[in-house]
Amino acid sequence: MRAMILDAPGMPLRAGELPRPALAAGQVRLRVSACGVCRTDLHVRDGELPDPKLPLVLGHQIVGTVIEGDGFEPGARVGVPWLGWTCGECRYCRSGRENLCDRARFTGYTLDGGYAEEVVADARYCFALPEDRSDEETAPLLCAGLIGYRALRLAGDARRIGLYGFGASAHIVTQLALGEGRRVFAFTRAGDEAAQALAVELGAEWAGPSEEPAPEELDAAIIFAPAGPLVPAALEAVAKGGAVVCAGIHMTDIPSFPYGLLWGERSLRSVANLTRHDGEELFDLVRRVPVRTEVEVFPLEAAEDALDRLRSGRIRGAAVLDIGP
Ligand SMILES: [Zn+2]
Ligand SMILES: [Zn+2]
Repeated sequence: MRAMILDAPGMPLRAGELPRPALAAGQVRLRVSACGVCRTDLHVRDGELPDPKLPLVLGHQIVGTVIEGDGFEPGARVGVPWLGWTCGECRYCRSGRENLCDRARFTGYTLDGGYAEEVVADARYCFALPEDRSDEETAPLLCAGLIGYRALRLAGDARRIGLYGFGASAHIVTQLALGEGRRVFAFTRAGDEAAQALAVELGAEWAGPSEEPAPEELDAAIIFAPAGPLVPAALEAVAKGGAVVCAGIHMTDIPSFPYGLLWGERSLRSVANLTRHDGEELFDLVRRVPVRTEVEVFPLEAAEDALDRLRSGRIRGAAVLDIGP
């Protein structure tokens, strides 16, 4: 099968041929049709996350069609997310927190992912997908949507919500938040007028550079950009009792800040991975709340270009690989 292969962190992905992956009991084999490109892929590619499987096929926002295997009928349209396997036995798994499993395996990181024509996945972690949008438009829901959804839940019932970094996840979260009657404020890199325009088009009532103070007090903030200095900035922007949620898997160091920014029962936390329950809730929600995904589509062999554009902030919405026959 055709695949984009990471031989070592820091090296460009290589277009090549791999043998079809072996299918084990409990797994399903998919013909991949689309795979979203996530900032996490970039962190793995750039060597910012430890101990990836090598060589590795990246990609954990996979939409495909079942060829064979357990759990789904051949021909079914199925999604594969980042959480690929958990032990079911550790204290996290046994308390509804499989996202924190000590032995979890992750698609496109410690398991081969979807930058390829075929993938095998544990059927218990795959999702049946809504049929209301194309494969390319569905793919970003599988991580940008899922992690965004979990981050939004952890932000509590905040009415005024600030989103720092307006990419794939924030453009979905904006629509989920507005659907719940919240108000959205979008913070982008200085001069990123395309992202600011997309935010306003999707219903954010303010969009501006993250260096600027918020136009009014926020009740919560979600940080999607991997930039530690945004943490004290967001704490400064939220009201007493408000939460700042860091949604990325990697971030540059957080500069020290005066305790006064946290005082007043503000909280600071991260979001790690997803549970299958998050996925069931999100896919149920998007069947009822219209969520439009804005995608830029690249052929499989242009994965390196897509990652490069993501690194420099030149993607409007979400980048997706089209892995057609
Ligand atoms: Zn576990
Ligand atoms: Zn992701």
